[in-house]
Amino acid sequence: MVSRVIPVNAFDLVLFGATGDLARRKIWPGLFHRFVAGQFDADSRLLGVSRSDLERDAFQAKVKEAVNEPGTDPAQLEEFLKLVDYISIDATGERGWDALAAAVRPNTVRAFYLSVAPKFFGPIARRLEKNGIATPDSRIVVEKPFGHDLASAKALNTELRECFEEHQIYRIDHYLGKETVQNLMALRFANSLFEPLWNSSQIDHVQITVAEKLSVEGRGEYYDQSGAMRDMVQNHLMQLLCLTAMEPPSKFTPNAVRNEKLKIIEALEPVPVDDIARGQYRASGEQGSYQDHAGNPDSATESFIAMKVEVANWRWAGTPFYLRTGKCLRERESEIAVFFRNPPHMIFPGTETPQGNVLVIRLQPDEGMTLHTTIKDPGPGGMRLTEASLDMTFADSLKDSAKPQDAYERLIMDVIRGDQTLFMRGDEVESAWAWADPIIAGWTERNMKPQQYDVGSAGPEDALLLMHKDGRRWRSIGA
Ligand code: NAP
Repeated sequence: MVSRVIPVNAFDLVLFGATGDLARRKIWPGLFHRFVAGQFDADSRLLGVSRSDLERDAFQAKVKEAVNEPGTDPAQLEEFLKLVDYISIDATGERGWDALAAAVRPNTVRAFYLSVAPKFFGPIARRLEKNGIATPDSRIVVEKPFGHDLASAKALNTELRECFEEHQIYRIDHYLGKETVQNLMALRFANSLFEPLWNSSQIDHVQITVAEKLSVEGRGEYYDQSGAMRDMVQNHLMQLLCLTAMEPPSKFTPNAVRNEKLKIIEALEPVPVDDIARGQYRASGEQGSYQDHAGNPDSATESFIAMKVEVANWRWAGTPFYLRTGKCLRERESEIAVFFRNPPHMIFPGTETPQGNVLVIRLQPDEGMTLHTTIKDPGPGGMRLTEASLDMTFADSLKDSAKPQDAYERLIMDVIRGDQTLFMRGDEVESAWAWADPIIAGWTERNMKPQQYDVGSAGPEDALLLMHKDGRRWRSIGA
């Protein structure tokens, strides 16, 4: 199968925060990969903007370092660097905006990517507008976090909408750019096999896990202001929940998809704080504890969270969604596991029912899907049952075309195309905060402390109890 690259029209991409960590690790390499793939050509311009005073050559050297990897064709790299320029601008000052106004071209798609701290979103948007750089057709891309709570998310939305229309605003949640996440929509809405089963009469429960092995060391101070609820659940896990639970949109257009996702967020029941498992990892050997990494011995911020979420609508009443995410866990693993109900009656006497059918949609590592089925244990010895899985690891089954694009590559090209399907709409973000805020406020009001857990474990004891109470079990992390 040959991968199809559909070229985009020439564009001017202005990357604020061009010298930052995200730009270096994801955005510049992503742009280079798309260039090499032939998705855009030498008519496009890539303008880096940040505070530092840098000559064009010095900046290009940084970009070169960021994108150069074993096997890179030096000629392609040189061609790519010809598109790259640099302007020094302080987001809160007035210097440099004229140069930017002169650098962007008329009648060319303009995308302003704000890979800077959220406090700069408003000031940059205002200066782009005031200096006539933003046109009615321009796009503005903003990174996470989008707000800290409902009030700050609303304030950010207001600031951005004073200068840009909603259809110009692209709020990134890079989970939505993952191949498997889109495949979840293809699986559900391009096949007739699963959709009739996709409801509470056939599905017992759903588990959504985003487990990380890494600690927060190095960014503990930042993380301590957010915690797993703000950093992961309100955005990434919420988006995965929405795509799993939403009704089929009438068409695959940005607003049709986002309307359906919004309905799910609005249908979420409030979660009692006592029913949530929160954890903090302990020190282990040479490695410090969460509180050491946060630089805060009294920190009550969670590095782990597990909760049961109920979607109160006809399709899902009675089928809980269990969400779980944390740092310093046994493995780095993200998946959505859909547990189908067991057969209503077992006709094979004396056989224990193995685990029923589970559809596992893996986001990382090895994006793919596995359907766990029950079969006869091969060989003599009567009718014994065992488990077998139908495995579809995309990289194996689809060969070259399946080499997954990094989420950022796909999302940036979507911005250029003007396709907002995989970006969060303002009302979605606000609605997710409206659901999360009372939970966070509950912890603070009741001065609740997270439970300690071991590095390399599956989280705190409370997370296991959460499932045991319901007569269910988590899927093993790193199985
Ligand atoms: P970073 O490494 O601290 O880089 C910040 C960038 O902002 C630098 O290019 C810096 O330029 C620029 N900057 C700072 N103050 C400025 C000002 N007054 N005017 C103009 N530019 C200014 O941050 P980052 O990790 O790349 O993160 C950028 C954004 O992406 C943040 O919103 C973050 O939350 C989000 N994000 C990051 C990651 C990640 O993995 N890093 C993941 C998801 C989301 P100078 O170097 O010239 O000062």
